[in-house]
Amino acid sequence: MPDDHDESGEHADHDAARAWLPPTRAIRAGRHEDDTSLAPVLWPTTTFVTPTVDEGREMATMIGAERFYSRFGNPTVRAFEDAIAELEGGESARAFASGMGAVTAVVLGLCSAGDHIVAQRQIYAGTQLLLQMACPRFGIDVTFVDGTEPGAFAAAVQPGKTVLVVAETPANPKLDLVDLDEIGAIRGPMTVVDSTFATPLGQRPLDHGVDLVLHSATKAIAGHNDASLGVVAGSEELLAWIWGFAVIQGANAAPFDAMNGLRGLRTLAVRLRQQAETAHRLAEALEAHPAVESVRYPGLESHPQHDLAKRQMDNYGGLVAFDLAGGLDAGRTFVESVELCQLATSLGGPETLVTHPASTTHVNLTPDERERSGIGLGSVRVSCGLEHPDDVVDDVLQALAAIDG
Ligand SMILES: *Cc1c(COP(=O)(O)O)cnc(C)c1O
Repeated sequence: MPDDHDESGEHADHDAARAWLPPTRAIRAGRHEDDTSLAPVLWPTTTFVTPTVDEGREMATMIGAERFYSRFGNPTVRAFEDAIAELEGGESARAFASGMGAVTAVVLGLCSAGDHIVAQRQIYAGTQLLLQMACPRFGIDVTFVDGTEPGAFAAAVQPGKTVLVVAETPANPKLDLVDLDEIGAIRGPMTVVDSTFATPLGQRPLDHGVDLVLHSATKAIAGHNDASLGVVAGSEELLAWIWGFAVIQGANAAPFDAMNGLRGLRTLAVRLRQQAETAHRLAEALEAHPAVESVRYPGLESHPQHDLAKRQMDNYGGLVAFDLAGGLDAGRTFVESVELCQLATSLGGPETLVTHPASTTHVNLTPDERERSGIGLGSVRVSCGLEHPDDVVDDVLQALAAIDG
């Protein structure tokens, strides 16, 4: 086709797209020019007809083939991948059956026996298990550093041996931040940031020079607790390597979940804004409460990295962490006394969820391990949902009152 369609709608659309703000892009991303269905089209098929041997061979040998066999690629999944790549400013993306599917593909797709990884100590428990338990079995060494300490990642890099730097920001469980400019400035190893807590609308690690950004889209991206989904975005070249491992790994995203991921993206901006508003109000209420020892929210002046948050985040997110003065008993009483909020793991959905790691997810850790993970006996995490902020704050306050009573 000659490229002479200056006045065509297509061209005008592309010009406009360059100026669109991220919330607008989230509405339009992942749509193809020939789509007339406004909603994402679901392709449940596992396989595709390739009418000739030549077409079959082409599909079988093409990186990222979209219409060969759905473990290799699938049109619904591709639409979601394209949307994430656009929102993150990456050339390409690959979706997975879960966030851990994405993490595992990055680590095992890019690292080999004899390689070294620098990772952050404050990190999602599943990622930590992969790095601490599985990587050594495959001959991959891992050094853990404090992600909040300036220069810690770069200082732990072993030239010629370190192939990957793994960071997460904001990080589980205390919403510690990692300086994205610092990760992006590391030369030599590849760098990856787990940006799940921020979402693609909260920060853009690739803009800071980071090589790969990944998400558990199970959380805020899909946003309704009904899809298990992961995604990683970055350069064409790195995504080709990751894809090569992913087709063997077999943790490909289900088309139905990818469709729900796309649906989630369309409302992500307003959901994130609402959740952040509630989180901010809740954080302020908690800071003023005598039963609360300390509060962590990147949007609070009191967050030790608030200046960094202002610099690299467009939205401080819907998660709040706090420590109860009364320790284990207070934590347990609190999470069992909430009435609107619910005790459940996960985050980023419409329902406000509370967790008390010391008595649930991290109950098997020794006190030493627990402290090193930044979890106190009275640590509580709240994922603010979409209920009216007054109701969420009132419920938390009445549960705090139950601790003294
Ligand atoms: C939940 C989560 C993961 C893992 O995602 P799954 O979809 O549960 O596999 C990874 N990183 C972070 C920060 C998470 O919150």
